[in-house]
Amino acid sequence: PTPRPPLKLTVLHTNDHHGRFWPNADGEYGMAARKTLIDRLRAEVKASGGEVLLLDGGDVNTGVPESDLQDAEPDLQAMNRIGYDAMAVGNHEFDKSPAVLAKQRSWLKFPMLSANIYKDGQRLFEPYRIFERAGYKIAVMGLTTDDTQKMVLPDNIRGITFTKPAAEAAKLVPELRAKAVMVIATTHMGHYTDGQAGVNAAGDVEMARAVKGLDLVVGGHSQNPVCMLGENKRNDAYVPGSPCAPDRQNGAWIVQAHEWGKYVGRADFVIDGPKIELVRYELLPVNMKKRAPDGKKVPAGETIAEDAEMKAYLQPFQANGQARLAVPVGATDGVLDGDRERVRKQPTTLGTLIARAMMDKTGADLALINSGGVRDSLPAGQISYRDVLKVQPFGNTVAIVQMKGAELLTYLKAAAKMTPGSGAFPQTAGVRLVIEAGELKDARIGNQAIDPLRDYRLALTNFTATGGDGYPKLNTHPGYVDSGFNDADVLRAYIAKRSPLKVADYEPGDAVTRR
Ligand code: ATP
Ligand code: ZN
Repeated sequence: PTPRPPLKLTVLHTNDHHGRFWPNADGEYGMAARKTLIDRLRAEVKASGGEVLLLDGGDVNTGVPESDLQDAEPDLQAMNRIGYDAMAVGNHEFDKSPAVLAKQRSWLKFPMLSANIYKDGQRLFEPYRIFERAGYKIAVMGLTTDDTQKMVLPDNIRGITFTKPAAEAAKLVPELRAKAVMVIATTHMGHYTDGQAGVNAAGDVEMARAVKGLDLVVGGHSQNPVCMLGENKRNDAYVPGSPCAPDRQNGAWIVQAHEWGKYVGRADFVIDGPKIELVRYELLPVNMKKRAPDGKKVPAGETIAEDAEMKAYLQPFQANGQARLAVPVGATDGVLDGDRERVRKQPTTLGTLIARAMMDKTGADLALINSGGVRDSLPAGQISYRDVLKVQPFGNTVAIVQMKGAELLTYLKAAAKMTPGSGAFPQTAGVRLVIEAGELKDARIGNQAIDPLRDYRLALTNFTATGGDGYPKLNTHPGYVDSGFNDADVLRAYIAKRSPLKVADYEPGDAVTRR
């Protein structure tokens, strides 16, 4: 056969976009500037005789109310316009109902890829796609963290199984190696330095070590730049605009571009016969700022103008979102604490407020929520609907279960065991708990020990009630009623009714004693 000229392939990548179609108040990121940058990179690569593949590592959904309220339509349509070739399916793609996911897939002009998601024995998404560039075939397969099974609303993944990504990769890679000169995985599994995933499901590093034959892993989920200081040493203090060396494991390069479109990753390969060489790698900041020595925020790189056409396309989405969100709801005399660092480890004021709002709405004796469902704090001063939706973006419903004290005690025992630091960790109201080394020692409602024979009413979200975060299932209990009330609306109504809120009223105090 006549020798082919080497292929110059530039892989551009993003991940964990999470609704950031619009730039933040500092003018950082945003899809109009991303469009300008990617258009320019395309032109540059073309001029040098190269080809481009544009990939995303998943989790386009969830994180900004303007996007969430519109089912991420601005984000996904903008990805079409930027010309993405494929994206991985992230766990947050299951935050909305299957009907919404189906609608989102119908919008896309490129595939959502995942090889390890099954329904009724069939893959739910295309496992891979083969792309042709200058006569060369490049295989891109998709993979999704198997943690998705326990991270999302069980109803949204009914009948769906997430198998181990590395096992699917092991099956597919030989097939893809036979079909293509380069095998890429676009994944939503996380980069865990030296394969130390801790409580998380195995990520990119573990997969690359287990499966020979991957050339490149375009990752996501852990939301960090993958820029290495040395072998198995990641730079977790990466400064935008500085050089970035991707990880390499078992012959595979592993890249990730932090989150929110803050960067576009650029990996230039030269494919010459069986040889695939990475000749250049960069994380290009999209109008990101960094701190100057005097503490001021300064541009971390060149300023990228927003693409006018894209801006004009996105503007009505932003305006529509803002109009629906700017509505004032109430006020508070201080911050109501929902910071992830604390809310997943100890009772906080916001956890207490949300649980009280659920009790108030339903007339329950007590309420319990998983702390992972508390996504932000409420700011001091005015509270808008946007602030409320940032705290509870999932659109859960509030449910109530009437049950005997004995059953309630069993449930609270399970709640007491949830690991501090995990999203399962409970926030409560209406009940006083004493927990010793994860064992429930005492539970009181209104100063009375829970009576095993009496009936109690527990308020919770449909997320925990249907077994989310590993909670015992209560939705099949005969005393279960889903009120249908949206969780954020319940909180909103309570804030409106009690404003101005006094933070001191929501101090958890001795609600939970852990020893
Ligand atoms: P990613 O890195 O992909 O963004 P993530 O950072 O959101 O994932 P976590 O912040 O740990 O991962 O979020 C997972 C947690 O979010 C779950 O353990 C659960 O506590 C919470 N969660 C997810 N969906 C819901 C929901 N519908 N209602 C309440 N909580 C939810
Ligand atoms: Zn994720």
